[in-house]
Amino acid sequence: MTLRGKTALVTGSTSGIGLGVARALGAEGANIMLNGLGDADEIERLQADLAARYGVEVDYDGADLMRPDGPGALIEATRARFGGLDVLVNNAGIQHVAPVESFPTDRWDAIIALNLSAVFLGMKAAIPIMKRQGWGRIINVASAHGLVASPNKVAYVAAKHGVVGATKVAAIEVANDGITVNAICPGWVLTPLVERQLEQRASAAGTEVSVESDALLAEKQPMLQFTSPDAIGALAVYLCSDAARTVTGTPISIDGGWVAQ
Ligand code: NAD
Repeated sequence: MTLRGKTALVTGSTSGIGLGVARALGAEGANIMLNGLGDADEIERLQADLAARYGVEVDYDGADLMRPDGPGALIEATRARFGGLDVLVNNAGIQHVAPVESFPTDRWDAIIALNLSAVFLGMKAAIPIMKRQGWGRIINVASAHGLVASPNKVAYVAAKHGVVGATKVAAIEVANDGITVNAICPGWVLTPLVERQLEQRASAAGTEVSVESDALLAEKQPMLQFTSPDAIGALAVYLCSDAARTVTGTPISIDGGWVAQ
């Protein structure tokens, strides 16, 4: 139990990678603030399940992080509820797929607001709290698309490259404050975000989701398997550990060899 008594806020943790990270941090003893959209009853069940399974305190705040006042309010609510903030995982994100020339401007604005600006605003609000504590871990969930591009994802790729850059800047600013700031860059993880892309591909090509799933992996990853949300959670736990105290300002790939090519 490396995180007993610490407080972790994981944005977008009602689903997918964020939920995997929240589980992994909870298993290490951290009290958890969940955030994200979803059915109220399901979220309540999730909250109770995590608390019972790991013997930690779990709360939920449904702040909409696309709003400019969302991230700051969420961090203040976490600090007020748990008395501090030790681990911030900026994970919430969305996707939209279309060529630049027909990419809807409102989707560009939404993706930049959630996938990039919310990361900046979250770090901005968290750093003063972590500085006062003399310890902190900020983990930004970027993507292989924070390091390389794919067609039809202009807003997502721009936002994720921005997250990697912002991670580096924050890391060097707080290098001697006991705070590390890193970006995790996953390849394909089978979550609702990717399931929606598979459904879209299958309906456009008149094929099955399973066919598109194999094709998706083969297009990008030498290793033909999805990374699990649990594996991303284990990487986040490592970044919170004492062994990782000098790991900072770095994008860490967990992508089946995607960006090695
Ligand atoms: P997901 O759709 O399963 O989860 C996204 C989470 O963000 C959900 O909890 C959702 O409720 C929340 N969210 C959406 N809009 C929000 C808003 N306005 N305010 C607050 N929360 C909001 O997707 P995922 O695949 O788990 O993605 C999580 C992160 O991982 C994203 O940043 C994504 O870009 C990144 N990522 C995913 C993959 C992948 O293959 N799935 C690969 C690389 C990076």
